[in-house]
Amino acid sequence: MTSLAHFETLAGSIAIPGHAVIDGKVVPALSGKTFANNSPRNGGVINQVAEADAADIDLAVTAARRAFEEGTWRRMHYRQKKKILFKFADLMERDAEQLALLESLDVGKPIKDSLSVDIPGAIKTLRYYAEALDKVYGEVGPETTDRISFAVHEPLGVIGVIVPWNFPLLMAMWKVGPALAMGNSIVLKPAEQSPLTALKMGELALEAGLPAGVLNIVPGFGATAGKALALHMDVDMIAFTGSGPVGKLLMQYSGQSNLKRVSLELGGKSPQIVFADCPDLNAAAVSAAWGVFFNQGEVCTAASRLLVQEDIADEFVDKLLKVAKKIIPGDPLNPATTFGSMVSEQQMKTALRYIGTANSEGNTLRLGGKRVREESGGYFVEPTVFDAVQPSHTLAREEVFGPVLAVTRFKTAEEAIKIANGTVYGLAAGLWTRDVTLAHRTARELKAGLVWVNGWDACDITMPFGGFKQSGFGRDRSMHALHKYADLKSISITLR
Ligand code: NAD
Repeated sequence: MTSLAHFETLAGSIAIPGHAVIDGKVVPALSGKTFANNSPRNGGVINQVAEADAADIDLAVTAARRAFEEGTWRRMHYRQKKKILFKFADLMERDAEQLALLESLDVGKPIKDSLSVDIPGAIKTLRYYAEALDKVYGEVGPETTDRISFAVHEPLGVIGVIVPWNFPLLMAMWKVGPALAMGNSIVLKPAEQSPLTALKMGELALEAGLPAGVLNIVPGFGATAGKALALHMDVDMIAFTGSGPVGKLLMQYSGQSNLKRVSLELGGKSPQIVFADCPDLNAAAVSAAWGVFFNQGEVCTAASRLLVQEDIADEFVDKLLKVAKKIIPGDPLNPATTFGSMVSEQQMKTALRYIGTANSEGNTLRLGGKRVREESGGYFVEPTVFDAVQPSHTLAREEVFGPVLAVTRFKTAEEAIKIANGTVYGLAAGLWTRDVTLAHRTARELKAGLVWVNGWDACDITMPFGGFKQSGFGRDRSMHALHKYADLKSISITLR
């Protein structure tokens, strides 16, 4: 078993990436500017990172376009493409411990999770799409004697990928994997809070033999580098994961520029419904706690609303609190830690502001509610539970993106469905019952892209992931994601 000392020593000895990866080279920003990459674990500075702006984005897009038009990657035989993507995955596996450490340093998530969830998840995703790339078939039209018609999938061209900081490498790979598999070129802008693993990924892709210009990583801020990418006239699509307000801006940028496609994975306010006939109250209590507190609540599918049927509500909330009380914030680099720091001072303040609002709106605080470990300099907020939250309250409607659970009690299934569907979001939902008819009917009525029955987050790379309503559109994961990065071309050959 590795220790805190092991990861602290490793953090002092590994090369921390800080340069962009553009056109096959590891380079500083054209302006020479850098920004301080902050450590949420202790409030210090991890390193200086190239601060790319519109000029760097233009350089990267030009390289991506050239690579696409030259066609070295796009036209490469699928067996060779697979070989390179598998080597890319193998190199990530070789450096998995370093990648996990970079992720935990950058965003404050427990090293245990980086090692067991984020990095293996990214590697699995890459291997899944490497496997899938020769399993995309076109269509042959109805036969006539004098014409053959068929539809083929054409890669879109240059894909701009913009991702958030909560699962930096995993979110990036959910887009990079299928976009590469379909033969596109990519310009990826990681979140300014979490550039490290994306930069390392860019370097590993080059080592694996991905041709220059096919995968460019350009770190920088949203309002400069991100906006320049989204407004660029030579980008064919923006694949985005992040907040609703930025998602709306990206659609405007598309309209103001070249009508590039936009796919959006946005926020959520996901409900977990526990009916009185729940088959396993203890398992549901664990799911209710970890559904919202995993990754410090910084999860788009966080089960941030618990809807519990009145008959069992008191008993169930007690069980939930028992589980939640054992979740203690700790140093993210300690392998024993299960709950780390929030990503930034700003995100911590947002969570504390929502806690203040919930208090002032009269919700009942049952657990937590405070900043802790302040002496470390890091941004730690306790797991927090509010009871008696009404559907009209702020905590029941707005995404906190932090460790705050809103508990609401209901009487009937109809009421539960109405409350569950009563926000602008529609990302995930869950329900616990032993009644298969109730399970099926409720699952169909819930307006959410993901519904889990008797479990939370119970799916993997093989199933599509994405939201309804203001949680966005377009799907990551599964074979459906491949088609997002291609278009259909109908070809007809007249036989003469
Ligand atoms: P954010 O929208 O502020 O930032 C996301 C990315 O967009 C960052 O890379 C940022 O630099 C960039 N950006 C910001 N302004 C931009 C602009 N004007 N033009 C172009 N790019 C810009 O979101 P965040 O705070 O980093 O992440 C939290 C949000 O992400 C939450 O709402 C969460 O629910 C959502 N999220 C959704 C999913 C999902 O799959 N549905 C997954 C993770 C996170």
